[in-house]
Amino acid sequence: MLGYLLALQGVEVVVLEKHADFLRDFRGDTVHPSTLEIFHELGLIDLLLERPHQKTERVSVTISGETFHVADFTKLRSHSKFIAMMPQWEFLDFVSAQAQALPNFTLLKSTESQDLIRDGEQIVGIQAKTAGGSISIHANLTVAADGRNSRLREASGLEVEGLGAPIDVFWMRVPRQPADDAESLGFVSKDGFLVLINRGDYWQCALPFAKGQAGAIRALGIEAFQQRIAGLAPMLADAAQTLTSWDDVKRLDVKVDHLQTWARDGLLCIGDAAHAMSPVGGIGINLAVQDAVATARLLGPVLKSGTAPSLDQLNSVQKRRAWPARMTQRAQVAIHKRILVPVLTTTKPLKAPLAVKLLNKLPLLRGLVARAIGLGLRPEHWHRNP
Ligand SMILES: Cc1cc2nc3c(=O)[nH]c(=O)nc-3n(C[C@H](O)[C@H](O)[C@H](O)COP(=O)(O)OP(=O)(O)OC[C@H]3O[C@@H](n4cnc5c(N)ncnc54)[C@H](O)[C@@H]3O)c2cc1C
Repeated sequence: MLGYLLALQGVEVVVLEKHADFLRDFRGDTVHPSTLEIFHELGLIDLLLERPHQKTERVSVTISGETFHVADFTKLRSHSKFIAMMPQWEFLDFVSAQAQALPNFTLLKSTESQDLIRDGEQIVGIQAKTAGGSISIHANLTVAADGRNSRLREASGLEVEGLGAPIDVFWMRVPRQPADDAESLGFVSKDGFLVLINRGDYWQCALPFAKGQAGAIRALGIEAFQQRIAGLAPMLADAAQTLTSWDDVKRLDVKVDHLQTWARDGLLCIGDAAHAMSPVGGIGINLAVQDAVATARLLGPVLKSGTAPSLDQLNSVQKRRAWPARMTQRAQVAIHKRILVPVLTTTKPLKAPLAVKLLNKLPLLRGLVARAIGLGLRPEHWHRNP
């Protein structure tokens, strides 16, 4: 996204992707109203929404068999009043197609950045591995947008502050029947917590569990796992039978951390490389996009002039984006501790907490939750000064 927005401003950009394509079925699929609004401002919203997606206008949660409505996006002050559940490869393919139409943008796939090139204290580019051997790319600015296990961030020596994540997630898909509920759903009971994302003919399912428990859950056998899913979401009793081996169930490691400093001379970290997000709220993709928009706005003009941004200019990105990222991470950590861990470790029947009952009764509150999730803190805009 940053590569596209810089190229739009006339900056020469090279983006590296270590994989040969974007076809990896993990991480989230949620494109929130804050991100859709940016595509509206870019004049690309209709084209983006031609890609396969399902619209989620409301979110509900079923606790011990009783359903409660907890968020309603339909009253948001935004052009798109829904979350677009779009497979991440479609979203990335769309953005990279827009970027590749620009003459000053280059995407190098199957190219893995390995190390930073330094000139004294200044970072002046990267060394990368390709099928044909090693290459060096020199640049006025190197951006580490290489995710939670960022190699460039590690090579930079920037200090990471771990915020702790007591959960991991099992991630799998099961068939969806046309008669199934259309909304994306959450189910909570003494058997745990299950999130379902409607992907048309299948449900993308996420089952969080206490960190370190993957082996113990697997040891109970795949049949016990099928029963656990059917216990949480009875409508999936048949569909869960399609999970016939642990190869059908991926374990995703959840991390929450934050860099003390996002930049050093010649290098800037953004997205998960600067602040790895938990899946809670399905918000990480959108925060990464917001970082990209702010960076393109703040640094585009100086890069266009052909000079390397100063450290102060690089730090202006952290100044703008660290607060929303930190506040969101704080909320995620609080939800891990106060809601997820108690739900995942109890064996007693669960009752809906007062807050959930109130949300179900008061549409205004459901609108506020939708605003917090859908637009978040300090949403960025394109073509408006930050
Ligand atoms: C289980 C789980 C579920 C989640 N669900 C959601 C959700 O529903 N919605 C949501 O908004 N967020 C979700 N998140 C968070 C979200 O995935 C991240 O916050 C978001 O993907 C961060 O975007 P990014 O661009 O910074 O990094 P990434 O999306 O991780 O992208 C990094 C890219 O860099 C490439 N790369 C990595 N290393 C190199 C290298 N050395 N050289 C070249 N390329 C490299 C990778 O292949 C990848 O394409 C979830 C996270 C987890 C763990």
